[in-house]
Amino acid sequence: MSTAKAQVLIVEDEPEIAELIEFHAERAGMKARKVGSGRLALDLVRREQPDLIVLDLMLPDVDGLEVCRKLKQAEQTRSIPIVMVTAKGEEADIVAGIELGAADYVTKPFSPRVLVARLRNALRRAGVEEDPTARIDRVALLDGKLVIDIDRHEVAAEGRKVDLTLTEFGILHYLATRPGFVRTRDQIIAAVHGKSTVLSSRTVDVHVTALRRKLGALADCVETVRGVGYRFADSGNGSDD
Ligand code: CA
Repeated sequence: MSTAKAQVLIVEDEPEIAELIEFHAERAGMKARKVGSGRLALDLVRREQPDLIVLDLMLPDVDGLEVCRKLKQAEQTRSIPIVMVTAKGEEADIVAGIELGAADYVTKPFSPRVLVARLRNALRRAGVEEDPTARIDRVALLDGKLVIDIDRHEVAAEGRKVDLTLTEFGILHYLATRPGFVRTRDQIIAAVHGKSTVLSSRTVDVHVTALRRKLGALADCVETVRGVGYRFADSGNGSDD
């Protein structure tokens, strides 16, 4: 296990959140896989024995706590650490999950740094070593002209540090997780909301305008898709799955 990447199974029915977790887990050097229901998760865990499970509690069919209970009851799956993903106000469920044997939890909306720290910690405690070459907290895009430092919340455009607000950073980071994928204003609001100020469709446009101005020569990387929303320009080597 010391040379292979840790295998993480993400159990989450909201595609946006599943993608966000996948993005950060993979950036942290893990190999992530996603399923959208409790039943699929139980099947897959029994077959493939992942190193770590990120488990949303609110799932269709079998809910997260029931998945946790079943996995912790079975000899074969008991030792796989589970990090729960919960919404605000689910304290009773968090307590129940920890009593069932879940390793940890994050509450939505979560900070990427906190998420990754908790995943790493759960892996470490379970004795799974990290791939030492894969501590990547920076994303280079547009042939390296744009660098997003996720840990430090910093962006550099053609070597020049760009001062972004939290909201601008959130929008850029969110769009850049999937170059070429169109995101609606509502999706952007959902992804960025809670990290900074209250957003509306119109203020998304205002933040994007400000973001582009700050990106200078790279402004065109944030493309408007008329009638839909925004996307990060696909430079041709971005989306590979
Ligand atoms: Ca859910």
